[in-house]
Amino acid sequence: MIKGSQLYEGKAKKVFATDEEELLIVSYKDDATAFNGLKKGTIVGKGIINNKMSNALMRLLEKSGVPTHYVKELSDRETLVKKVRIVPLEVIIRNISAGSFAKRYGVEEGIVFASPTIEFSYKNDDLGDPLINDYHAFALNLVTPKELDIIKEYSFKINEILKSFWKSCGVTLVDFKLEFGRLSNGDIVLADEISPDTCRLWDSETGKKLDKDRFRRDLGGVEDAYQEIMARLESKLEVSK
Ligand code: 5GP
Repeated sequence: MIKGSQLYEGKAKKVFATDEEELLIVSYKDDATAFNGLKKGTIVGKGIINNKMSNALMRLLEKSGVPTHYVKELSDRETLVKKVRIVPLEVIIRNISAGSFAKRYGVEEGIVFASPTIEFSYKNDDLGDPLINDYHAFALNLVTPKELDIIKEYSFKINEILKSFWKSCGVTLVDFKLEFGRLSNGDIVLADEISPDTCRLWDSETGKKLDKDRFRRDLGGVEDAYQEIMARLESKLEVSK
């Protein structure tokens, strides 16, 4: 596999071409941003943790029948993935009230929902990723009704798999964000990453936040929290050293 030129640099990752048309290399950075890039910082070692955690969770999902873009971990920070055309929607699943949900509806954090919720944001930095409903997403040709049905089905399935996995680690999966892409044949697969950057993960006993909210909210102990959540995952799942 030959690494080609850089195609894109995002807030947390870079993407490179390879000598194979259908494959890309993603490289995870330690850069952290929040509030649509207004807050910037570095979380030392985050890129390595997010790469290895996301890959371990994608392997778990693949085993359970959820197709993903994951192909192979290449190094501490780099992973080979299938090239996709990203569906420009952020899919957010919530099990417990927190973050923008708690703020929008004026409720406290920590309310356990009887069943999980799903919502979508239009991936558009200039607009600040506004909430969008199914009909508006169809009107804007962001996704087809058939694709959105598949995305919803996969998202709830991913929630069940991850919720039960994290429970076995003594961690509560509060909410998370997913992104999906289309392969060249049109098939929908899970893309982007699943990491403490994209999930709220609370210690089941103490409620301690073990995710990016420590950075967003200046809670301190950010690096320690990333290491702690990775150690919890490693106690249950195979991770490359
Ligand atoms: P909220 O809408 O409450 O801010 O976020 C809900 C969940 O989705 C949280 O787990 C959060 O980490 C994730 N999330 C939402 N939007 C983004 C985003 O733009 N970037 C990242 N990394 N995570 C997001």
